Amino acid sequence: MPRECAFCTHVGPLSNEHIFAKWVRDLLSGPADAFYIGGASNRNERFATGAIDWKAKVVCSPCNNTWMSEIEEVHAKPVLTPLVTGSEIDVPIAQAMARSIAIYAFKTAVVQDHAGRRLEPFFSARLRHAFKATHSIPGNVRIWICGIKQKLPNVQVLTAYYTGQISPTYPWTMYVSTFEIGHFVMQIVAVKQFGQIGFRPLAGYENIGIPVWPGIPADATWPGRYVLDGNSGQFLGFAKRWERVQPLPPE
Ligand SMILES: [Zn+2]
Repeated sequence: MPRECAFCTHVGPLSNEHIFAKWVRDLLSGPADAFYIGGASNRNERFATGAIDWKAKVVCSPCNNTWMSEIEEVHAKPVLTPLVTGSEIDVPIAQAMARSIAIYAFKTAVVQDHAGRRLEPFFSARLRHAFKATHSIPGNVRIWICGIKQKLPNVQVLTAYYTGQISPTYPWTMYVSTFEIGHFVMQIVAVKQFGQIGFRPLAGYENIGIPVWPGIPADATWPGRYVLDGNSGQFLGFAKRWERVQPLPPE
């Protein structure tokens, strides 16, 4: 069955592309180790890959070779290289840097959604096409980053889909995608609902996750005072902190 590109109306054979671009794979060369956890079923399937060379057929070649590779070169590689390698600390998070991270994070989260699902994409075609056109990020998306001490496994990805209801007439669906790339962790959370209610995750990581989208705190630096300890499974805890949420009262 012909599939449509995740970001445009191209229908037909899609190109088999790496989820992590060459610059990421080059940074993490050596004893590469990667885990992927999750998927549409939320069964928390966990499997290791020999290297971070996962590929997925979710975008067309023109998209991949033009504006998407530009995101890698212009937004991701220069901003994220010192964070992935951990070569710099106390990096001030300026607005432009936060926006670059958000663009890369949203792009990666959409690709991951399409790679892992056999159901309807989480984000509508209108929103995905708008992202291609203007790099606009949907209003229901929030993004956090943090640092992680341990370097192996080099890459972990956890995606999850949660549903719930505030009342019988107020259901919500949430997509959470969390990526560990070297010493850098990013978490993308999107909620579909017929309203504006905010959600609070499980407590415990407030001092670790640094919001970068839609806004950044004043004087934020990466990785901040606290980072995840990879050895004690804190990546999983952080990734799964949205398993149980509490609605916040409307602002
Ligand atoms: Zn395309």
